[in-house]
Amino acid sequence: MIVVEPHGFCSGVARAVATAEQVLERNPGVPVFCLNEIVHNQQVVERLRARGMIFVRRVEDVPEGALLLLSAHGVAPAVKVKAAARGLRVVDAVCPFVSKVHAEVRNFARAGVAVICIGHRNHEEVIGVVGEAPEAVRVVESAAEVEALVLNPTAAGVGVVTQTTLGASQVDEVMAALLRRWPELKTPQSTDVCYATRNRQRAVQLLAGCCQRVLVLGSANSSNSLRLVECSQAEGTPSFLISDLRDLEGLNWDAIECVGITSGASTPEEFLNRVVQKLRDQQGFAGPEIMTAVDEHSPSFRLPDLEEK
Ligand code: SF4
Repeated sequence: MIVVEPHGFCSGVARAVATAEQVLERNPGVPVFCLNEIVHNQQVVERLRARGMIFVRRVEDVPEGALLLLSAHGVAPAVKVKAAARGLRVVDAVCPFVSKVHAEVRNFARAGVAVICIGHRNHEEVIGVVGEAPEAVRVVESAAEVEALVLNPTAAGVGVVTQTTLGASQVDEVMAALLRRWPELKTPQSTDVCYATRNRQRAVQLLAGCCQRVLVLGSANSSNSLRLVECSQAEGTPSFLISDLRDLEGLNWDAIECVGITSGASTPEEFLNRVVQKLRDQQGFAGPEIMTAVDEHSPSFRLPDLEEK
């Protein structure tokens, strides 16, 4: 079996998880709430829940004055206003790459530019990004939606931003359709699809060419993990999302001599180790051989301000 590098935690997830752990450590005996999943990974969420973190879906579910952690996916400004109105003490673990997209939307909107966000409209990250300027931002998920887009005709141009965890081909297709309709489209200075997403996608493409089956370890609501499955499948290699060890049991292993493994940006390394062990013990695979497909230079982020406001 082959494990490809890079895989697993990105800098934004590592920062969010470390922030959550620090907040719990600094506040023994105090209820700590987290709005939505801190990152989209079941194992991470369950581990924090076991340490006492309380996950909620709405700010209204947090008692007044309590301590609230915001997830790596970011929130709309209105959510922070609501938290302040309830007197909540907030620690924001938003990934700096997501903050970059929020800032781009604010800048476009301030300049009177109509903003198109390429992304999945029900994903928390996109909901937060749209919330920066709801009147100015429209979301497109696919090239097919571009024709039907209705933008403010008096806007001072059209700009585009992108969800950070999209697949490269999805972005390219939508971007091409947007440029056909608005050749003067304003784009951010650098791509919004983050380094970790791009590197893990490139790596899984190369991995797919070297094995008969690819396993992508990650949760079903993890956008970047789902994109890895798509990237790998696009190379013609049967690829499966594995979110639980039991998922391995549903697969037919006959005639599989080489299996490739990667994991999404929010998947803990312990889960990968358990999958590797199970494949050794139950399917008799040797290894893993480590394949470094992309040289990754991860940014190192400082933790957010832990003195809650
Ligand atoms: S996948 Fe990218 S944007 Fe998302 S948390 Fe990781 S580094 Fe940040």
